[in-house]
Amino acid sequence: MTKPVFRFAPSPNGRLHLGHAYSALLNADFARRFDGRFLLRIEDIDITRCRPEFEAAIYDDLAWLGLRWEEPVRRQSDHFADYRAAFQRLKGRGAVYPCFCTRRDIAETIACREAESGETWPRDPDGAPLYPGTCRAMPAGEAGRRIAAGAPHAWRLDGAASDRLAPGPLRFRRFERDGREDAVTAQPRRWGDAVIVRKEIPTSYHLSVVVDDALQGITHVVRGQDLEAATDLHVLLQSLLDLPTPRYHHHGLLLDPEGDKLAKSRRSKSLAELREEGATPEAIRRRLGF
Ligand code: GLU
Repeated sequence: MTKPVFRFAPSPNGRLHLGHAYSALLNADFARRFDGRFLLRIEDIDITRCRPEFEAAIYDDLAWLGLRWEEPVRRQSDHFADYRAAFQRLKGRGAVYPCFCTRRDIAETIACREAESGETWPRDPDGAPLYPGTCRAMPAGEAGRRIAAGAPHAWRLDGAASDRLAPGPLRFRRFERDGREDAVTAQPRRWGDAVIVRKEIPTSYHLSVVVDDALQGITHVVRGQDLEAATDLHVLLQSLLDLPTPRYHHHGLLLDPEGDKLAKSRRSKSLAELREEGATPEAIRRRLGF
């Protein structure tokens, strides 16, 4: 039997905080208990926000915590060709369409529809309004002309086509720390026609994560509850791309004293700051329950 494979997949767009330490330690702990492998992946597709010094700090912080991972580390920015190939596959299957809308176009369309109907426009699990579908109906000739003329465009998953190509129920296995498992039915339609290739980069978080988990042979994904709803979309992409679906565990998030989740954007204290204040790796592990 092949060994279970776990991964911790941080983005180098800031310093790691306690929430990352928890996720990394939990992955490594699962790998140890399941007699599995532990991989590290650097998710740096967002080349405008990711910085080499943050990547270097990730290695330092994780090693300081006492973690060891297999080499080589997969760095997403080295693998755009893999994401492009997966996108071509989706395109070839008719699962995506180009979208030329700006944020403003989308906001205006939704405001009009809300004014007409008197109802609030539906939102996705992250709270963003669902795409109103403007470009879905654009004739292929017109879209092709715009692309040839260099018009900026993203690519969206066509929800209706996906339903046909990957008829449900789309299921995945969820596992818990005590080894219990159950089956969950994914509901990708609650994301509407999600962006799968962004305007400014030739992929998206969703596409890259699915391709990499498959290429790295990840069998068990352990990540925060903030990504639980995204799993619905990942399971759909796996089905459309004929990739295996790993098992998933979404852990609770660490909160700051105000009850907000720790985040780089909220300037939560970094592991480096805690270290400078005298925290030891042992104290951090204990504080996080390891
Ligand atoms: N790169 C993502 C993050 O830092 C994690 C992605 C994942 O585990 O699927 O939040």
